[in-house]
Amino acid sequence: MVSILLFATVSLASLGLFTWKVAGIVKQIKLGRPTNRSERPGERWKTMLLVAFGQKKMFNRPIPAVLHFVFYVAFIITQIELLEVFIDGFTGSHRYFYHAGLGSLYTAVISTIEFLSILTFVATIIFFARRNLIKLPRFNMQELRGWPRQDANFILLFELLLILFIFMMNTADEALLLESNHGSYGFAISQYLAPALFGSDYAPQTLNILSGVGWWGHLLMVFLFLNYLPYSKHLHILFAFPNTYFSNLNPLGKWTNMETVQREVGLMLDPSLEPNLEVGENSDPQRFGAKDANDLTWKQLLDAYSCTECGRCTSVCPANQTGKLLSPRKVMMDTRDRLAELGTNGYNFDDGKPLLGAYITEEEIWACTSCNACVQECPVNIDPLSILIDLRRYLVMEESKVPSELTGMLTNIENNGAPWQFSPADRLKWTEEN
Ligand code: SF4
Ligand code: SF4
Repeated sequence: MVSILLFATVSLASLGLFTWKVAGIVKQIKLGRPTNRSERPGERWKTMLLVAFGQKKMFNRPIPAVLHFVFYVAFIITQIELLEVFIDGFTGSHRYFYHAGLGSLYTAVISTIEFLSILTFVATIIFFARRNLIKLPRFNMQELRGWPRQDANFILLFELLLILFIFMMNTADEALLLESNHGSYGFAISQYLAPALFGSDYAPQTLNILSGVGWWGHLLMVFLFLNYLPYSKHLHILFAFPNTYFSNLNPLGKWTNMETVQREVGLMLDPSLEPNLEVGENSDPQRFGAKDANDLTWKQLLDAYSCTECGRCTSVCPANQTGKLLSPRKVMMDTRDRLAELGTNGYNFDDGKPLLGAYITEEEIWACTSCNACVQECPVNIDPLSILIDLRRYLVMEESKVPSELTGMLTNIENNGAPWQFSPADRLKWTEEN
C-alpha cells in the first residue's frame, strides 16, 4: 500500500508539473501574432505523417537518420512497457501483462525492447562520440557552447541510465525465476545475462531489491526526462508533430504580403473600407515587421520551440559556409531564448534588449541570401528565413536602415518603378535597332 501511495504521489506530481510547464509554453506561443495555417487539412496531415512520423527528411543523411530512427522506434515501443509500469504501480502487481495471460506475446515485446535498447545504447555512444570526440563541425559551433552542449549530453546520459535500469530489472527478474526453478520469462537478452551476472550466488532478497531499484530507477528516469523536456531542445519530441502539421504549404520562395501594409494600401485605394480591421492580440499599434519575439507569429514561435539544434540548416547555409556571421540555427535558438525571457517577465516586457540587436545583429540578418536552403533542409519544417525577413522588414520600414548596396535599388524603384537607373520612358529602347 505504501508503495502504491508513493507511486501515485510521484506520478501525479510529475505529470502535473510537466502539464503545467508545457501549458505555459503553449500559452506563450499562442500570444504570437495571428497567421492562418488551417487551409488544406488533408495535405497538412500528410506532411505531418511523412515528415514527423515518417522522419522523411532525416533520411537525407543516412547515418544519423538510422541512428535517430533506432531511438525513435525504441521510444515508441518502450511506451508499452511504460504502460505496464503504470499499471503495476497503481495495482501493486509486477509484470501485469505477463500474468494477465499474454505470455509469449509479452515475451516477444519485451525481447524486442531489449534488442532495441542494445541498439539504442550503441547509437547513444556514437552520438556522444560525434559531439564530444569526433567533434563534427556542426556540433561545435559558437552557439552550442555552454548549456546547449550540456543539454545534448544530459539527454544521452539519461538514455544510458534508462537502458541500464531496464536491464537491471529484467535480469534480476529472470534470475529470481531461475533461482526458484520456475523457468524463465524468455527475454531475448536478459535470460542469458541473468545466469552470467548472478549465477547462483545471489539471495532472493538481493534480487528483489535489484529488481525494485531497476523498476523505480526506470520510472524516475522517465519522470525526470519528462520534466526536463520543457527546458531542453528535446521538446521537439512533442512539438515536431504540430509544427509539421502547421508547415508552410506554399512553394519555397513565395513571399507573403505584410498584412499591416496591405491594410494601409487597401485603405488608400478604397476609402470606403472599414479602417478598424481585425488586428492581432498584441498589435496595437502593430509594428511593420518584427523587432522582438512578441512581434512574431505563433507559428514562428512554435518553430523556435520545435528546433532540435541539429544544425542541418546551418551546415547548408551559404552565408555560414562562406564565413559570414549568420547561422539559422542560432536564429531559432535566440528566438526561443528571448521568448522564454518574455514568458518569465511578462509578454510585453521591455528591457531594451529586443531580439533584434541584443540577440540577432543587423550583420547577421543582412548576411542572408534568402535562398531557403535552411528551410528545405530542416527535418521538422522550421522556417528561420521568415524570422530574418520580418526583422529586415522592421529595420527597413520602421527605422529606414538599409545597407548602402540596397539604397540605390530602392531609390530606383521609387523613382523609376524598376530597380534600374533608367527612366520608365526609356524602357523599350532596347528593342530599337541600332
Ligand atoms: S535562407 Fe538565409 S539563413 Fe537560410 S540558408 Fe539561405 S542564406 Fe542561410
Ligand atoms: S532549424 Fe531545423 S535544421 Fe536548423 S537546427 Fe533547428 S531543427 Fe535543425
